[in-house]
Amino acid sequence: MAIDWEAGRLDSDLEGVGDDTLAVRAGQRRTPEGEHGEALFFTSSYVFRSAAEAAARFAGERPGNVYSRYTNPTVRAFEERIAALEGAEQAVATASGMSAIMATVMSLCSAGDHVLVSRSVFGATVSLFDKYFKRFGVQVDYVPLADLAAWDAACKPNTRLFFVESPSNPLAELVDIARLAEVAHRHSALLAVDNCFCTPILQKPLALGADIVVHSATKYIDGQGRCLGGVVAGRSELMKEVVGFLRTAGPTLSPFNAWVFLKGLETLRLRMQAHCASALALAEWLEQQPGIERVYYSGLPSHPQHALASQQQKAFGAVVSFEVAGGREGAWRFIDATRLLSITANLGDSKSTITHPATTTHGRLTPDERAQAGIRDSLIRIAVGLEDLEDLKRDLARGLQAL
Ligand SMILES: *Cc1c(COP(=O)(O)O)cnc(C)c1O
Repeated sequence: MAIDWEAGRLDSDLEGVGDDTLAVRAGQRRTPEGEHGEALFFTSSYVFRSAAEAAARFAGERPGNVYSRYTNPTVRAFEERIAALEGAEQAVATASGMSAIMATVMSLCSAGDHVLVSRSVFGATVSLFDKYFKRFGVQVDYVPLADLAAWDAACKPNTRLFFVESPSNPLAELVDIARLAEVAHRHSALLAVDNCFCTPILQKPLALGADIVVHSATKYIDGQGRCLGGVVAGRSELMKEVVGFLRTAGPTLSPFNAWVFLKGLETLRLRMQAHCASALALAEWLEQQPGIERVYYSGLPSHPQHALASQQQKAFGAVVSFEVAGGREGAWRFIDATRLLSITANLGDSKSTITHPATTTHGRLTPDERAQAGIRDSLIRIAVGLEDLEDLKRDLARGLQAL
């Protein structure tokens, strides 16, 4: 983008700049008003100077907005900024993380196609595949996330898509994304990665060989618990299909939410750095405490995939899980003794949260399924926010005392 001195330097020159600069400046196109902050175009439709111009825009012969289900300048600014950060040719915003996943599968798969999904993906993702996509003739199988040989063995001639979350929730299991992409491509399948837990600040799946990245922007991209939204990003050739589906089916992003996410991206690296530093400190501290039986955090040398996490991610994320003495009762006593942490299943917020996965996020699984997923009754998950580290520690100490 060239600097337009004549127009009062309305656009920024972003050639070769770093991620921090992209997060603050990419995607913004100033209007002749010269606003410094991103303009919020809170409009459903657009007007034309003449009937001929309307006809040309509807026919796609002249560029420009027609209707906000199709394009909106604020939403486009968010899409361009997140595409820049993910290193994607194109990104498209959606109404939620779930609609990003829905749009990916609806636009890239057909009845008769086979999809492989990593075990232990987000609960609603499992429901979407099992209750809905299967109804439309998409075959779905689940594969243990880290087991590359199992992915290879599960492929069929009609396998079209691999869908994974890395790291997984709540046990922070990883898959080697570059090697999984090789397996997918060897079978002519696409690899989609839900990058919600890492954000492009910690992990760039497209650079590792994935074909599609999806996000719940509801989590760290907003980061302050205000808005729902999602993103799909990848090559233009694939995104063309996703955009076509979204424009037709309609789960597109509100311009207001896009504006909030634009501001969220500006502080994303600083926030992720603070989240990750506190999470690592708490994980290390928890590992030393009596009453804590095991800590799951890929930043700890005790994590079986610590080496892969160090190489694949810039830091280890904000989610720390641990098992306490005393089973479910111990876990509930620990949770109820905290005074600062919010008891909720959400994450990606400046406010730290604490959850008992076995009876909330994973409550609908049978005991057998839970055992297979490694979700014990004694497991607690925290999503570390931005409060003072010492205050978080003191709150967890209240939990420890209650064990
Ligand atoms: C929250 C979440 C989703 C769903 O996102 P919504 O914005 O709530 O629709 C998908 N994947 C992961 C990993 C999530 O944490």
